[in-house]
Amino acid sequence: MGETKTYSGSCHCGKTRFEVTADIQKASSCNCSICGRTGWLMASVPSDAFTLLSGTETQVDYQFGSKTMHHSFCGTCGIRAFGTYAVDGQEKVVVNLRCLDGLDVDALDVQKFDGKSY
Ligand SMILES: [Zn+2]
Repeated sequence: MGETKTYSGSCHCGKTRFEVTADIQKASSCNCSICGRTGWLMASVPSDAFTLLSGTETQVDYQFGSKTMHHSFCGTCGIRAFGTYAVDGQEKVVVNLRCLDGLDVDALDVQKFDGKSY
């Protein structure tokens, strides 16, 4: 078992800053049309484990397909640091683990997620 930690995260230009508190052992690699292109490694957390510290004004919302998820990205540097969605009335945040400070993504157990089929 790992431990729950609070990680700081940011986009490339630094306008988007956030914190996420989670026990991150696994990452998902998704093959959907957007994740396949951006190549991110993700983890989903409850929205109360995520705090957006800055960047609300520079985040651009993007939706496609079933529009269940908000694929937001920084309007200045284009980095897709997180996205939001709701499932069964619960707000969730999907975090791009590559945007977190002090997390060795190469040490994570990466599981393939078949987002293409959704
Ligand atoms: Zn940025």
